[in-house]
Amino acid sequence: MANNNDHLVQSDDPNHPANLIPDLCKRFFNNGWCTGTGGGTSIKQDNHIFIAPSGVQKEMMKSENIFVMEFPTPKYPPSDRKYIRKPLDLKPSACTPLFLAAFERGAGCCIHSHSQWCVLVTLLVEKMHGKEACFEINNIEQIKGIPKGPGKGMLGFHDTLSVPIIENTPFEEDLTGALEEAMEKYPDACAVLVRRHGM
Ligand SMILES: [Zn+2]
Repeated sequence: MANNNDHLVQSDDPNHPANLIPDLCKRFFNNGWCTGTGGGTSIKQDNHIFIAPSGVQKEMMKSENIFVMEFPTPKYPPSDRKYIRKPLDLKPSACTPLFLAAFERGAGCCIHSHSQWCVLVTLLVEKMHGKEACFEINNIEQIKGIPKGPGKGMLGFHDTLSVPIIENTPFEEDLTGALEEAMEKYPDACAVLVRRHGM
């Protein structure tokens, strides 16, 4: 590529998204939130989206492995999506359309994890009477670290956290429609669980 915009992922600032994503992925790996090449992470800064690649061990990721897309992005079909910076030896993340759906609704950062805890929760909560499933929890101390919704402050001990659960699909990008529906129905939720898959 004549102009691969490599400068977009080169910075000495540890908080630059191209440095922060590899750093966060290493921490997520150490927490057991992601293993191997599973999961993904993306950060929006100004009019750019920085996205972790597919097929790289999360704890070994480097800034030069990061994809960059302009935001807002015209609705290209996934096969035609325009990256303004891409590593020449790596494939983009299958999570990209899911991340874009969240960014279009105001998210600033997206994490996709295959955490065993998330998978376990989705195995415990059934669909109720044909309604879509939702994991709900209250009276738990750590809930205070989770926002009530955009601009609404944090949840209190007695508040209820609701996290919708959608059904998995054989291909990750095919989750987009159900994810968008869940985000419309639960605009305050900061996560969506995917049954037998993760968060
Ligand atoms: Zn996944």
